[in-house]
Amino acid sequence: MLTLDGLSKTYKTGDTALSDVTLSVPKGQIIGLIGPSGAGKSTLIRCINRLVEPTSGKIMLGDVNLASLGKSDLRQQRRRIGMIFQEYALVERLTVMENVLSGRLGYVPFWRSFLRRFPATDIQRAYQLLDRVGLMEHADKRADALSGGQRQRVGIARALAQGPELLLVDEPTASLDPKTSRQIMRLLTEICSERGLPAIVNIHDVPLAQQFMQRIVGLRAGRVVFDGPPDMLTREA
Ligand code: ADP
Ligand code: ADP
Repeated sequence: MLTLDGLSKTYKTGDTALSDVTLSVPKGQIIGLIGPSGAGKSTLIRCINRLVEPTSGKIMLGDVNLASLGKSDLRQQRRRIGMIFQEYALVERLTVMENVLSGRLGYVPFWRSFLRRFPATDIQRAYQLLDRVGLMEHADKRADALSGGQRQRVGIARALAQGPELLLVDEPTASLDPKTSRQIMRLLTEICSERGLPAIVNIHDVPLAQQFMQRIVGLRAGRVVFDGPPDMLTREA
C-alpha cells in the first residue's frame, strides 16, 4: 500500500532529519511513530505528502512514486491521503458540516453557504461520518464553539470525507487531556480497522502508542531504531 524506500531528508540548514528510512505500511495497519523530539517524526509525516520535499528516496503509494511527481500530478495524488493535525486546522467561522465537506472539496471555499453546491449523496455521506464520530447534533455549530476533543472529531471526519487510502496523523492528542486523548485514539483506531485504512500516527505519548497501536516504529536521529509490536517495545525499554 505505502512503501518508503531509502527516504532521506537534509534541510537547507544542513540538519539531516531522515537517513535512509525504509518502511512498508500494509492495508489496514496502524503505525505509531515514536521517538524523542528532533528524531524526524514530523519530517517523515510531512515528506510523505511532500509538504516537506524529500532529498532522496521513493514514496510509493500503490503504483505511484509520490517523490517524483510534478506539481499538478501531486495535487491530484494528495487527495488520496487524509491529514489530521495536532491543532485541528479547522476553519473557525465555518460550521462543523462545512468543515467536513471542505475535506471532500480539497480546499477551503471562500463563498458563503457552499453546502448547496454539494450533491445530496455527499451531504448524506458527511452526516454519516459525523454520526460515526459522535457529532451528529453539532453539525450546524461553528467550529469555534466546540471543545478540543470535538474539534479533533471534526478533523477525523473531514479527513475521511475525502475518501483517503492513507491517513497521516501528526500528534493528534498533543493538545488534549489524557481522558480525551484516549477517546480520540480509540475512535481513530476503530475507524481505521473498520475501513481497512492504513495510518501513520506521530504520537508523542509512548504509553498511549502502546495501548492503541498495532505496530510501533521508533525513530532516533532520523533512523528507524525499532519496528515491531507494542509489547516488544516494553521488553526493549
Ligand atoms: P514539533 O515540536 O512539532 O516537532 P518544532 O518545535 O520542532 O515542532 O518545530 C516547529 C516548526 O519549526 C516546524 O515547522 C519545524 O519544521 C520547524 N523547525 C524545527 N526545527 C527547525 C530548524 N532547526 N530550523 C528551521 N525550522 C525548524
Ligand atoms: P520530531 O518531529 O521527531 O520532533 P522533526 O522532524 O521536527 O522531529 O525534526 C528533525 C530534525 O530536523 C531536527 O534536527 C530539526 O531541528 C530539523 N528540522 C525540522 N524542520 C526543519 C526545518 N524546517 N528546517 C531545518 N531543520 C529542520
